[in-house]
Amino acid sequence: MNSFRVRLTLIMITMIGLAVLAAGLFMGKTYRDNHLEALQDNMVREMRIILDHMEWKQGDPSELFGYYTQQAQQLKEITDTRITFIRGDGTVLGDSDHAPGTMDNHSTREEVMQAKKEGIGQTTRYSDTLKENLLYVAMLVDPKNPNSDIIRLALSLEKVDESVQRIWMTLIIGLLILFILAAIISYRVARGLTRPLEQITRVSKRIKNLDYKARVVVKRNDEIGELGMAINAMADSLQVQMTRIHQNESQLASVLDNMINGVVMIDANGTIVLFNRMAEEILGFPAREIIGQHYASAKQQYELTQFIQEALELREHLRDEVTFYFPTERLLDLNLVPIFENDEEFEGVLLVLQDVTAIRRLERMRSEFVANVSHELKTPVTAVKGFAETLLGGAVDDSETARSFLQIIYDESDRLNRLIGDILELSKIESRRVPLLYSPVELSSFVNKTMELMSAEAVRKQIRVTAKVEQGLYVEADEDRLRQIVMNLLANGIAYTAEGGCVSIVVEPVHDPNATLDEFGQENYEHIRIHISDTGMGIPKKDLPRIFERFYRVDKARSRSSGGTGLGLSIVKHLVELHKGTITVESKVGSGSTFTIELPVIQ
Ligand code: ADP
Repeated sequence: MNSFRVRLTLIMITMIGLAVLAAGLFMGKTYRDNHLEALQDNMVREMRIILDHMEWKQGDPSELFGYYTQQAQQLKEITDTRITFIRGDGTVLGDSDHAPGTMDNHSTREEVMQAKKEGIGQTTRYSDTLKENLLYVAMLVDPKNPNSDIIRLALSLEKVDESVQRIWMTLIIGLLILFILAAIISYRVARGLTRPLEQITRVSKRIKNLDYKARVVVKRNDEIGELGMAINAMADSLQVQMTRIHQNESQLASVLDNMINGVVMIDANGTIVLFNRMAEEILGFPAREIIGQHYASAKQQYELTQFIQEALELREHLRDEVTFYFPTERLLDLNLVPIFENDEEFEGVLLVLQDVTAIRRLERMRSEFVANVSHELKTPVTAVKGFAETLLGGAVDDSETARSFLQIIYDESDRLNRLIGDILELSKIESRRVPLLYSPVELSSFVNKTMELMSAEAVRKQIRVTAKVEQGLYVEADEDRLRQIVMNLLANGIAYTAEGGCVSIVVEPVHDPNATLDEFGQENYEHIRIHISDTGMGIPKKDLPRIFERFYRVDKARSRSSGGTGLGLSIVKHLVELHKGTITVESKVGSGSTFTIELPVIQ
């Protein structure tokens, strides 16, 4: 752009310079011509005056030499001009600066010939005699006779040239000043023209470098102004489009990042180009390390890389379920979909990973549950069927045996009933079909009431049940469900403790070191704990992690004799979790068990 400015300036300066030079030359020439013309007029006038005052003698030239020479010398003193008197045939009669006898015939001198033709002749010429430029003006003595004698004046042009030179000097200085002024003005004009263009270029460069906020400051109404406005309009539209693209991009990125499936894109060359957050978690590579790498660099996932290779080669949709051992063991559902641009050009493959570990585990648990339930149901049903058959086979006649068999059938069907009841209850809780009805529960009275419900059983087994509850403790809970929890644990405590043993229930707030005090100076606790302990047989360490599983029993026979279904603790755990609480157990074989429930005070 600068070079454009310089060029523009140079062109303008050259043009101005040429114009000024031409004007100068013309002025110089005109001045010289005018000057010469004025001089010539003067000289003609002088010659007329001379002729008027002088006696023009005729006769033998050799006699006239003296006279004319003297006249010429006298006149030169007055006029300061060289004077020559010439006869009609060209013989010099007298000259102010030379002896006429030594001078050649002047009939061929330009001014003489012209004077003969027109009356007055004039020329400028370098005089060999005087060695300088002279202006010669010749005139016929008798204007009517072309052959008459001639008077000629010659003036040194030195003075004329001097004054012309002075004029030239002035002109050159003037021109120089003019030229400098013109240069400055040209530069400023050029700058005025190029500056907005430079600004537009700068803005365009910024836009090119992705700075879409850059705008041209438009101050003019001309074409350059229009160009600026057009650039601004382009920047506006670019900015809008880029914002839209960014929005779309971030939408897409957030969709990808928040997907529960891992998504990996591999281009036709096998380079990983996309790796979302879930893929990072499932495959155990950080995206920033793996993006741009070849898929084969994921060496830990050998099976997966083989699978990708197959998909890249076959360009078909592939699907498989594979167990991965890195970074953790999981079962993954792999979907490889080929990507085609415009339905023809192969672009790569899209890998969608779904962690199906939990789903498959759930499915397995479900089918195991069905098998367990069938098995559990089968036992009492078989017993009922067997005893009923025996009765039908004749035992019914023996009233004693019949009675005991009927008792067994009754007990078994009662167990069946309870079992079915527990299964229904568990499925209801698991599927969350019954919503919890929260209300504040005052724990002291709640515990007392619950203990009363269990008292008959306790008395029967001669077990002492004690309670220790801090006064004024509240918890937000579904009271019926909370009762179900506590009753189940108390029932287990009573069931798995020998006669004469003890079962205790302790309720306490969980002390938090950061807790604040309320207006009564009491601590604002966030959780409460309920401990239910017994002095019973305890649970072996190896069984502890499993006792909350459905149908899990430490000792089948004992559980059966105590009328248990193996579902109680499972139901308890679910209910505690519905209250967003936790349940833990500590136990020592032979000395007893303690179940601890921690519940949030506010739901
Ligand atoms: P059950 O109906 O058999 O009691 P639960 O789910 O309530 O089933 O308990 C699972 C198993 O945990 C029981 O079979 C028993 O072996 C063991 N168990 C539960 N509570 C106690 C306890 N207080 N003391 C000893 N063992 C217990």
